[in-house]
Amino acid sequence: MSEDSRYLCTSCYGGTVPLPRWKIGYTTCLPCGEVQAKKRKHTVAPLNKSNYMLFTDPELLKQLNPKRT
Ligand SMILES: [Zn+2]
Repeated sequence: MSEDSRYLCTSCYGGTVPLPRWKIGYTTCLPCGEVQAKKRKHTVAPLNKSNYMLFTDPELLKQLNPKRT
């Protein structure tokens, strides 16, 4: 279980991110993740969310790219 301690929470820098959680894209510990999940409902508009996904998901970006050479 020592691997888990490698992934430091990028929000509070005090907690650690469980490995399975890190692998699915989270960079925060569980308490910070919950706080961010609540904030997200208020701060992220649908349009921003789709733009955000383009930067975080290279595979999706390829699919959406009209230039298929
Ligand atoms: Zn944290």
